[in-house]
Amino acid sequence: MKNFDNSKKAFKEAQGYMPGGVNSPVRAFKNVGGDPLFIKQGKGSHIEDIDGNTYIDYVLSWGPLILGHADDQVVSALQAATAKGTSYGAPTELETQLAKKIREIVPSVEMMRMVSSGTEATMSAIRLARGFTHRDKIVKFIGNYHGHSDSLLVDAGSGLATFNINTSPGVPKDLAYDTLTVPYNDVEGIKAVFEKNGPEIAAVIVEPIAGNMGVIPGTQEFLDTLRQLTTDAGSLLIFDEVMSGFRAAYHGAQSLYHIKPDLTTLGKVVGGGLPVGVFGGRRDIMEHITPDGSVYHAGTLSGNPLAMTGGLSTLNQLNDNLYKKMTAKTTRLVEGIKAAADAHDVPITVHHVGTMWSYFFNGGDVNNFADVQASDVAYFAKFFKQLLQQGIYTAPSQFETNFMSSKHTTQDIDDTIQAFNDAFDAVN
Ligand code: PLP
Repeated sequence: MKNFDNSKKAFKEAQGYMPGGVNSPVRAFKNVGGDPLFIKQGKGSHIEDIDGNTYIDYVLSWGPLILGHADDQVVSALQAATAKGTSYGAPTELETQLAKKIREIVPSVEMMRMVSSGTEATMSAIRLARGFTHRDKIVKFIGNYHGHSDSLLVDAGSGLATFNINTSPGVPKDLAYDTLTVPYNDVEGIKAVFEKNGPEIAAVIVEPIAGNMGVIPGTQEFLDTLRQLTTDAGSLLIFDEVMSGFRAAYHGAQSLYHIKPDLTTLGKVVGGGLPVGVFGGRRDIMEHITPDGSVYHAGTLSGNPLAMTGGLSTLNQLNDNLYKKMTAKTTRLVEGIKAAADAHDVPITVHHVGTMWSYFFNGGDVNNFADVQASDVAYFAKFFKQLLQQGIYTAPSQFETNFMSSKHTTQDIDDTIQAFNDAFDAVN
């Protein structure tokens, strides 16, 4: 049995200072009935906790670390940038360099603004859509998570789903009233909403490949329908690719579905482990942002030189071939997990797209939030703790996604599959 004494002690102390002892709720492991690990360091595919236990890490800071922990090139670029000063609050060429790179990879993002989180990116995209269309209503999908701004904290996935919260207290009723929610992948449902409210809808925001209720890909028909309905109604289509961008595919989920959204939000990988978010898209829409337009957006640390360097030194190392390799590794892993579950007669449904993967203890189809809710979360909690004992660090909730990095080796993957087999033995 691994010893977690130092983590337990550190957690107890942290609880005196921060609600739940953490700065983001799912980190607390509350839903899986354990104490969180406190991390000392990471390198490549591995992390080490403050008790000296090491793990193969598939959380990867909830997605950003596509090159694994402490990538040599990222670290040395950051060291060099830090020596020149940490922030100027004035333009730098780094911002244009990162913007250029992003547009090269995701061409629908003709113009963009840098921010410091995915939450800021989606919040700003929604304000822009409302300002551009002069409409208030937005549509989101049940179980999709777009960060923690008020308008978007309705029927959200991720931590809200984990802790069974529909709409957070503190979100004004009137704001929630302007957020219409529809089940994910429900073509008839979204058609009915547009029939009734079409001319009032500013935007539809969607995770084209949902990652905040585990991985659930949107169907082609569903996403094509969103594109058509928004175009016909004069509403904007926002693809929230904070998670799926540079993850589901090099050129984002939009490249897999051949759909051009009006606006796209990015985060996570785009900062390479530093705080970066991006919202961008059609030039004629983005030109409505201040100072040329009148939709307000600003940020003391937006475009921060260290954050830009983290993003640039990461994106500059990505290419189509790397994604082929990472996707093949992900496929090897999830096929091994499925075989391990089958060998132990545990009903499981495994989903993966590119470098995103998750499993549901639910033998049936998982296409929307209600399907995920039908999974066995009690078994998940026991299994998660067993995986930790086996040295595998995965997302501590059925409503989250795991990730692959370029640094995970075939040996890591085969060790992980063996660990899943051992964990099934131990739990069953
Ligand atoms: N949008 C999506 C799809 C996300 O997965 C997340 C975070 O997990 C966000 C937005 C919010 O990003 P952040 O946590 O950086 O504010």
